[in-house]
Amino acid sequence: MKKSLLIQNGRTIDPSQGLDETGSLLIAEGKISWLGKGKETPPQADYDVLNAQGLIVCPGFIDLHCHLRQPGFEEKETIASGTRAAARGGFTTICCMPNTEPPLDNQTTVEYIKSKATSEGVVRVLPIGCISKGRKGEELAEMGELASTGAIAFSDDGEPAPNSHIMRQALAYSRAFDLPIIDHCEDKALTEGGQMNEGVISTKLGLRGIPSAAEEIMVARDLALAQLTGGRLHIAHTTTEGSVDLIRRAKEKGIRVTAEVTPHHLTLTEERVIGYDTNAKVNPPLRTERDIQALIQGLNDNTIDIIATDHAPHTEADKLCEFAFAPFGISGFETALGSLMSLVHDKQLTLVTLITKLTGEPARIIGNKYGKLGTLAIGAPADVTLFDPALEWVVDTRVFASKGRNTPLAGERLKGKVMATISQGKLVYKDDSIKVKER
Ligand SMILES: [Zn+2]
Ligand SMILES: [Zn+2]
Repeated sequence: MKKSLLIQNGRTIDPSQGLDETGSLLIAEGKISWLGKGKETPPQADYDVLNAQGLIVCPGFIDLHCHLRQPGFEEKETIASGTRAAARGGFTTICCMPNTEPPLDNQTTVEYIKSKATSEGVVRVLPIGCISKGRKGEELAEMGELASTGAIAFSDDGEPAPNSHIMRQALAYSRAFDLPIIDHCEDKALTEGGQMNEGVISTKLGLRGIPSAAEEIMVARDLALAQLTGGRLHIAHTTTEGSVDLIRRAKEKGIRVTAEVTPHHLTLTEERVIGYDTNAKVNPPLRTERDIQALIQGLNDNTIDIIATDHAPHTEADKLCEFAFAPFGISGFETALGSLMSLVHDKQLTLVTLITKLTGEPARIIGNKYGKLGTLAIGAPADVTLFDPALEWVVDTRVFASKGRNTPLAGERLKGKVMATISQGKLVYKDDSIKVKER
């Protein structure tokens, strides 16, 4: 039998149990087996010890939206590299989007992801299936087959959900499985050739703009269809003040909608594009300070349910080109916590709210199909993240586990760092300063 691990003297924060206290936590046989206050020690004696003094100990982070690029784009990322990057970012469960080649629109490709994740992954990978066959937007994918193979949601991410009729069918049909339809809200007629947020800066830079309306039109359409069908809708990467308003009003009306926001849309503005940094090119684009304030307000009043990375790795060569030709996307796993902690240090979000949006809330959207996630409750899978809220560090993309070093944060100083990640009872990442003592 494998030895147990005691995480000692950390500040345990588990919003799912209303827990915020100094104490210890025992992991045995892949599960949380004991929680103790202060200096209490567990009844059994056979365990190693990880000293977590000065660290926050919380449920492992859950990312509802990432791109692992496998199969088809292994030069950008693989399940092996992507799950290691997730572990470095404190994520123990990640949900991968189906825009691979071939796409995850059938049982075989979903099974492929699951088996690769088991053999080569270090954290839990939950696949998201396509809405439409081949992501072409013409015909619904075999949603029943995808659901029974383990898809936790449906999305054609990268592309908006197909025409309104297909979206209506998808929302109606998905009710049978009680799984959400995740939409990348973009009216393509308004974004054609768009490079960045539309406004004064795009005009100055001579780059074609992507107006807020392109997102809001699709959010409004999807909300109307969710109301019509009673289906579960999840809005991916919300970026505008107008979208937040629409979602807030829809929730007041009882429409079944949840929404996410990314770390980059919460912390970076369109000004990052000045200088034509292709690593700041992302879709939907970085917006304005006013939008950021609306998104933070949305998190605080629960209009926005979760934070998801939209981790979108690309190779250096992909991004090393003229702005107009660069692909959209930011490699986000390894900087997520550090950048989000700036909102806590600035008192715009509480630590508990931040942790809730990364743990219990995404777990609620996923449901219980994969066991109790997002909690440190006794008996739950031992998915645990340890982080230092105050440690300052400089983002060095050379040490990224992700193959994608495409981040506008390279070289920046962040305050708050993941120090250890435990996935299903296994220590899958630890900072060099963390020592595990045998006893
Ligand atoms: Zn998207
Ligand atoms: Zn995406």
